[in-house]
Amino acid sequence: MAPLLMATSPAQAESGAMVTPVTSTLITGIHGHHCGYNDTHRGTDFAAPSGRQVYAAYDGHVDLRSGSSGYGTHIVLSHPNGYSTLYGHLSGYAVGEGQHVARGTVIGYVGSTGDSSGPHLHFEIRRNGASLNVLNSQFPCRATSTALAPITWSPDLPASSTPPPTAPPPPAPAPIAPRIGILDGAGTFFAKDGGLDAPWVNTSGGGTAMAVDGDRIGMIDGAGNLWVKDGGLSSAWFNVHPGVAAFSLSGDRIGIVTTGGDAYLQDGSLSGAWQFLAHDADNITLAAERIGLIDGSGIVFVKEGSPDAPWTTQAHDVRQLVMTDSRIGIVTEDDVAFVKEGDLYAPWVEQSGSIVQMSISGNRIAVLDTNTIAHVRDGGLQSPWTQMGNQISRVEVTATRVGIIRNGEAWVKEGDLNGAWHVMAHNVTGLSLS
Ligand SMILES: [Zn+2]
Repeated sequence: MAPLLMATSPAQAESGAMVTPVTSTLITGIHGHHCGYNDTHRGTDFAAPSGRQVYAAYDGHVDLRSGSSGYGTHIVLSHPNGYSTLYGHLSGYAVGEGQHVARGTVIGYVGSTGDSSGPHLHFEIRRNGASLNVLNSQFPCRATSTALAPITWSPDLPASSTPPPTAPPPPAPAPIAPRIGILDGAGTFFAKDGGLDAPWVNTSGGGTAMAVDGDRIGMIDGAGNLWVKDGGLSSAWFNVHPGVAAFSLSGDRIGIVTTGGDAYLQDGSLSGAWQFLAHDADNITLAAERIGLIDGSGIVFVKEGSPDAPWTTQAHDVRQLVMTDSRIGIVTEDDVAFVKEGDLYAPWVEQSGSIVQMSISGNRIAVLDTNTIAHVRDGGLQSPWTQMGNQISRVEVTATRVGIIRNGEAWVKEGDLNGAWHVMAHNVTGLSLS
């Protein structure tokens, strides 16, 4: 005889199911404490870019709040049976005071208002005003979340007026502002987002190498630890790997070469697993779905797609490797720059001799010659060069910007290759653009 108490109708199974309020690639705080800190915290912190949509976890009445509270601009939704949910640090509201919203409605946008160290959603489930500790098993430190996916904990709530969304929509791609990173002579890593005159953010001291890419930045400290942060320049650093000699960032991928010469790839969350790629590596370069290595003998290997795809041997006697999703560039040990365009088997096109360093992005190629003169070409692999000046020790390009280090100063121009230079900083040893 079946136990009578097992009977659960479909309506009951779905009653009270709350949905996840936001998509996040990193949980940075849980009920109890902020991740990595011995402090106190009520609720769950979902790191996400400013402007990302925040959804109502359940049907409820809107109470808009702002002002002196540490939650900044926030919303409290009141639900039946004494439940409420709180959405903190918003950049804005999508609903009005007193409105009734259904589960899954966009109610606001991620921000960093109030007592917040970077863009994230602080989310609490409360009953009779007390914050409940019910989310930590589904959203532990460093986990990820998908907006509108069911919250597995079931409160004592009546059925929602709206069915649970079956296929959560992908998050709207967050606009990524152009970013500039510099390392100064003291090892301090400054970065800025947006316009050339945006303020610098001091992200950290103690750096020996850094790079910016999209909404991630990375830095190797003096002890060889690789630190990466996701999202805003003021978000939290994560120590993603010790013993790192070189690294490359591309989208959700991080490539590293350890001090022992082993290459690894991480794909996805900053807490994800590292996949071994190769021994005897000197340097690693990532671009979109491509992974490139220079080995200890100067041989370049590139693979595309899955990290398990086979390697293709690209060139010998190479000093520098640069890549985009459609181009591969090399500078050989005898100072010749070549670029290929298209698939991995396309022919090499010589760019110039007497080259010490190269940077490529989109349809743009920049080279620095042995006379400290930088040259940039836009368009095809044999379009005309525009000269960028002399006494240059480094050139970096994006599709719209050119950056140089000249006599220890960082200069950037944007738009027209013949446009005006803007001085960015003095006493600069490293420059990275994205
Ligand atoms: Zn919080």
